[in-house]
Amino acid sequence: MTKLRVRFAPSPTGPLHIGGARSALFNYLLAKKNGGDFIVRIEDTDRDRSTPESEENIKDSLRWLGITWNEGIDIGGPYAPYRQMERLETYRAIAQKLIDEGKAYYCYCSEEEIEAERTAQQEKGETPHYSGRCRNLTEEQRRELEAQGRKPVVRFRVPAGEQILIPDLVRGDVTFESDGVGDFVIMKSDGIPTYNFAVVVDDYTMEITHVIRGEEHLSNTPRQILLYEALGYPTPKFAHISLILGKDRSKMSKRHGSVSVVNYKEQGFLPEALVNFLALLGWAPEKEEEIFTLEQLVEEFSLDRVSKSPAVFDMDKLRWLNGQYLRKLPIEDIAAGILPHLSAGWQNDTPRLNLLAETMANHLSCFADIKELMPLIEGEMPEPSEQVQEVMAGEQVPVVLQVMAEKINEMEAFTPENIRTAIKQLCKETGYKGAAVYMPIRAAVTGECHGPDIDKIMALMGKEKVSARLEAAYK
Ligand code: GLU
Repeated sequence: MTKLRVRFAPSPTGPLHIGGARSALFNYLLAKKNGGDFIVRIEDTDRDRSTPESEENIKDSLRWLGITWNEGIDIGGPYAPYRQMERLETYRAIAQKLIDEGKAYYCYCSEEEIEAERTAQQEKGETPHYSGRCRNLTEEQRRELEAQGRKPVVRFRVPAGEQILIPDLVRGDVTFESDGVGDFVIMKSDGIPTYNFAVVVDDYTMEITHVIRGEEHLSNTPRQILLYEALGYPTPKFAHISLILGKDRSKMSKRHGSVSVVNYKEQGFLPEALVNFLALLGWAPEKEEEIFTLEQLVEEFSLDRVSKSPAVFDMDKLRWLNGQYLRKLPIEDIAAGILPHLSAGWQNDTPRLNLLAETMANHLSCFADIKELMPLIEGEMPEPSEQVQEVMAGEQVPVVLQVMAEKINEMEAFTPENIRTAIKQLCKETGYKGAAVYMPIRAAVTGECHGPDIDKIMALMGKEKVSARLEAAYK
């Protein structure tokens, strides 16, 4: 049996997007599950938009997610080079072969001529396609056009009247009519191949067995199949995975949340959670379970459980999943994760930072959430809500707060343990207990009725601030 070989072939024209990351993940999972190879190849023929920074971002994002490749950019491999601009000779030779066999031809039409043709077709209500004007030029006509200084592109001669079948592993059989596909450009006049041509040459020469990519490429696939046939290459298996939609069911965009993977990293999402979430965008596990490590995903993944209906990007679900992973981390890792989102002072006080991490862990769904929680500790006293006012109106409140303030002022080490002990003593001494004690203390110190453990919050706020707030509340 031939070894399964799949690839992720991003164009380095921007940071790695959620959709690209999902395609990479599905390819990776299929390869690992089947003992195959996963290749990362760069499609950099768009000279205006490709940048080295984007390529770096794509590689870093994939590695951050834990998606590693067996062959490709950076690491090389037996099918190198893995960057299209380094493979120009191969495309040129194969284009020449098609020309020699009469399956492709030079076209000298200028952009303006093509544009005029397109407009005329549209006016007649036709789908725009190349008319085939240069299909049958004689040698002499070609020489004349070249003498005018025209530089030709190479067009593929699309056979008439064929049905093109894509037996798609996700969408089932999809057919296209070749008559709807005009002769398309395979080599531009600058000698750089177009996507549809380069991708076929690469997938064939790299012995790719399965092409898994986004649904937006489905309409390119008939052109690619025609090329496979013309070149006598076996066609790989295709699987086009659905679009990712926002919750309002329009195409996922910045409005729905960040679209690039690096933003999730910056916001303090965990790669394990994002991978888990991406896997569930279109793939349905057999079990009820929703939490899967990358290793478990490799075990469970199969293309038959990938749905052809669009996947909906649910930010609340991602946050929930991330919270699940976050809470399993050791406190030190949570501390390291929140640190970049805190003010400078926290850097130098590890015990206090660890206490903060421990106190807030249950209230975070991602590390950046810490920023919203910090006013509780570092902020001014909020305006009292109605609930706070009710709590503060209790008749036991002045006594409770006064005794608490006295105990705090006497305290040597202002730690959660000492604060807890002081509250217990306060209960014994005053005869009040439970909510009658805890609620007013919390309300007086934080201006809120609910929140993280109050002993820890007080320790984090520091003795001075706590005692000032208690005093302000009962005096
Ligand atoms: N460079 C294409 C893209 O980024 C790859 C398409 C394919 O996988 O064939 O969308």
